[in-house]
Amino acid sequence: MPKPSENALIPLKIASIYAAVAGIWIIFSDELLAALVADPVTLIRLSILKGWLFVIVTAVLLWWLIRRYVTALLQRDATLQEIVQGVSAATGEEFFASLAKHLAGTLRTDFALVGELTGETPPRIRTIAMFGKGRPMANFEYSLTGTPCAEAITGKGNGAGCFFSEGVTRKFPADHLLVEMGVEGCICTPLRDSAGQTMGVMAALSCRPMKEKALADSLFQIFATRAAAELERRRTELKLREREHLLEQQFTQLTTIFDSVSAVIYVADLATHELLYLNKFGVSLFGENWQGKRCYEFLQAGQEDPCSFCTSESLAIDGEPRPPYVWEFQNSVTGRWYQCIDRAIRWPDGRLVRMEIAFDISERKDMEQMKDELVSAVSHEMRTPLTAMLGYTEFMLENEVPPAEQKEYLRTVHHETERLSELIGNFLDLQRLKLRPEPFNVRRLAVETLLSEAAALFGAAPQRHRLTVDCPPGLPQIVGNSGQLHQVLVNLISNAIKYSPEGSAISLGAVREGESVVIRVTDEGMGIPAELQDKIFEKFYRIDNTDRRMVGGAGLGLALVREIVTAHGGRVWVESTLGKGSTFFVELPALPESSS
Ligand code: ADP
Repeated sequence: MPKPSENALIPLKIASIYAAVAGIWIIFSDELLAALVADPVTLIRLSILKGWLFVIVTAVLLWWLIRRYVTALLQRDATLQEIVQGVSAATGEEFFASLAKHLAGTLRTDFALVGELTGETPPRIRTIAMFGKGRPMANFEYSLTGTPCAEAITGKGNGAGCFFSEGVTRKFPADHLLVEMGVEGCICTPLRDSAGQTMGVMAALSCRPMKEKALADSLFQIFATRAAAELERRRTELKLREREHLLEQQFTQLTTIFDSVSAVIYVADLATHELLYLNKFGVSLFGENWQGKRCYEFLQAGQEDPCSFCTSESLAIDGEPRPPYVWEFQNSVTGRWYQCIDRAIRWPDGRLVRMEIAFDISERKDMEQMKDELVSAVSHEMRTPLTAMLGYTEFMLENEVPPAEQKEYLRTVHHETERLSELIGNFLDLQRLKLRPEPFNVRRLAVETLLSEAAALFGAAPQRHRLTVDCPPGLPQIVGNSGQLHQVLVNLISNAIKYSPEGSAISLGAVREGESVVIRVTDEGMGIPAELQDKIFEKFYRIDNTDRRMVGGAGLGLALVREIVTAHGGRVWVESTLGKGSTFFVELPALPESSS
């Protein structure tokens, strides 16, 4: 509480002096009058006058004293109200504005300001709130050097503040602001944090001399304590916000990196399997609504319990993360192969979680499979023609063979070479298609031309098979790679020739069906059992019976047909009756009429 000021003591002094004078007057006035006046009548009159005078003086004095007292009480009340309002407003900028206003009001000064050190050398102050001449003023910066505030921080009072009742501009002529504002008296104090570091200053400036240092000091300190606390809170809040911003930035940077990687990256709780993070690549494969789901529910198909191959248990021992675990598996949702790197990491909330980075290695797996297939093709299919070629040529080299037989042997060698070349060609085509599934060099193609060009290739065969092409006029065009589609027809026609008796008919045709063109290749051959009509499109699949084994082939022709047709957005299937013949259908998207 503030100490009673000098002014407040004056009425008390006056009352005491009056009481003393009145006492002396009451005791000695009668004797004094009696000594001065001899006439009894005059003495009585003077005594009455003396009584009235005493009453009047006492009444005036009482009235004056009460008025002073009430005014002092009201003033004190107003001051207290100012203090309460000044220091209890909200927080932040609003708080400092209110504090400056009420500080000026309480101390009855023309200006009040709160400012903080900018951190520069030489030190500068940036005001947070400035109140002057009855209204808030714009904030500004000023150099601390040569100002009363500098003395308040470092000065004689050990940095405990300073008070100048008058003549402040004369003492600090370098402080142009003070001079400009016409400041006469001022009070200023440093604002320190809880560690004692100076954060800023608070000042009240008056254009008239400032009196009552003790009162001003004590009132000022109330505001200063609250201002310092708020300044420190504000600083902590700013630092916290900066930290949050930095963390947010770092998080954004990290997620940007994670999102730009073409690998699935996710984080899941080690114990509950709850998904905590999934990168964009993962979202594009598995969907958006992963929050709150378990990894096995969301990233696997039809999995209701943790996966049997879950790595969680091997990632940490006794709560300590272990080295990363690298493994490969085929995902049941995408059907693709992944190489996964799993490791236990600490999540921001302290718990251990599993982070998995899964790279798609399906292509590598395909290549590996292709290599295996090549090895098996070499060992089975390629060996047969090579053995025949080697046998016949060796025989011819080592023996005298008559020309007619030579020709027969050479025909066999030629036939086997063709088989081998077809096998290698089909195999390489398939491999190329795997690496580049999208058809390239596409253009508009007339179906009829495709069919007749393919049929023309087998021009030498008519004696053995009757080959016809039947296309209705006005068929829509299709879009595709002519070489690849030519290959499709060649494979189907050559199969039709291979698997049907000499002299039988082979017909090619095409019709429009809705948005598609359906091409067919029909033969009157041996046919295909119903249960194998899907299988024959698989790589290296050949129907195993003696009839067919007589006919050469590696089981790649139809696989290639299906691969090319699928890449063109179409489909291929067969309808067949054993012993009667087969029709292979190829459906391809038709080019809309308008663009034909
Ligand atoms: P390849 O003819 O080299 O054996 P394909 O992939 O072209 O390989 O054909 C796979 C199998 O499908 C053949 O082995 C054959 O048994 C059967 N097949 C294909 N086309 C016909 C057809 N037109 N008539 C009867 N069977 C066929």
